[in-house]
Order: sequence, then structure tokens, then C-alpha cells
Amino acid sequence: MLINELKLAKELIRRPSITPKDAGAINLLAKNLRSLGFKCQVMNFKNIKNLYAKLGKSSPKFCYAGHTDVVPPGNIKEWSVNPFKPAVKNNKLIGRGANDMKASIACFVAAVSKFKTKNKKFKGSISLLITGDEEGVAINGTKRVVKYLKRKREKIKFCLIGEPTNPNRLGEMIKIGRRGSITGRLTVIGAKGHVAYPHRANNPSNTMVKILKRIMRKLISIIMMVNILIKISMIIWK
Ligand SMILES: [Zn+2]
Repeated sequence: MLINELKLAKELIRRPSITPKDAGAINLLAKNLRSLGFKCQVMNFKNIKNLYAKLGKSSPKFCYAGHTDVVPPGNIKEWSVNPFKPAVKNNKLIGRGANDMKASIACFVAAVSKFKTKNKKFKGSISLLITGDEEGVAINGTKRVVKYLKRKREKIKFCLIGEPTNPNRLGEMIKIGRRGSITGRLTVIGAKGHVAYPHRANNPSNTMVKILKRIMRKLISIIMMVNILIKISMIIWK
């Protein structure tokens, strides 16, 4: 059985799965994967739906990891199409999650369906670890599923993250890692004073800006070192 990537991508986009809502996206995916012979396990952690689907049992174990949740569409009037009614314009699929990352999931599933028709029996196994909580706090998503898999002694040898990575053309880059995050608490104590005597006061905002500037400079040089400059503005704003 062959699965069409565009059809599946559109079906997924039609589900408004804005984190933490699933809107039927995980079940739709599970249904398609079951039709290919995958064993699907839908895992609910708190209000989040996750999916671990597996085809075959032997090693090496290859896993595709991704997410079905999307960020809010913002002002719908600013879209050229309804973000949850996908359309193809100028050879481009437009809709919320078309890029990040429902089309990627659909392409992978379609690729597996093609691979299966040519390789009835193959060495190894293919799995998909899909979460509905990547764009949000990401506590009840991949982390919890990985914990579960560890408990079950399910070892994954290779993992492909299907996130959009190539800004200009397909195959532009392959990354061996993605961004991380750091959280800290910063308290700057100032000194109040009269506006007529500013030299006697200490505005903590000024100090804060200086500190943030230094952190930012450090961050930039680290990021440049690991060659993920493209994502830099996102990191700073996140
Ligand atoms: Zn993503």
C-alpha cells in the first residue's frame, strides 16, 4: 500500500493541533501507520498524546522523531489561506505546520510505504516517536516516551529528527544536534534616588542591559562555534 505524502500532510494540517490540543492528529497518523503494518502505541501523559509506532523487531533499530503539535496561527486574516485548510500555491504547500513539521512526517510515512513495497523483508526495524508536545513546555512528550522506552529496554540505534533544517534548498545541511536552552534567574539591586540627582541613584535596568549584552555576546560566539548561526535569532528570542 502506498501513502501519498501531500494527501497525508494536508489531512494532518486540517487538524488544528495547537499545543496541547491534539485534534485527532496522532490517531490519524496511527491509522495510516497501522495500514502499513506498524504496531502503534498511543501514550497519554497528562493532557498530551504521544505515539510510538514500530515496524519489525530486529536490529538495527532506526527511529524517526517528530511532533504533530503546532504553534498558534496568529491573525488568520494575515494568511493567504486558512491555516487549517491547506492549499498548494506556486508549488508550495501552505498551512499551519506545513513546514514545522507535518509535511516532514507525511513524507517519512510515504517513504516508508514505498520502501515496504520494494523490501517486503528487511533487516532491522523502523519506528516513529511522535509527540503532541514539542512547541509547548515539552514535559509530557518525547522525554516521557523515552523514559518509557528505557524502562522497556527498547534501544534505538539511529534517530532522525525530521525538523525543517534546510532554509533554501533540500539537502542543504544535515545537523548532528539541535539547540538547547538555559534558564537562569538574575536579580539586580539598584538604589533609588531623586530625578534631580541621578548620580546618587543606581538604575538596575542599566546594569541588567550590560549583563544581558555580555551574555548575548558569549552565546553568539558559542553558537558560531557549533555552526548553528541560522537559528540564532530564534534562540535569543526564545
Ligand atoms: Zn518543530
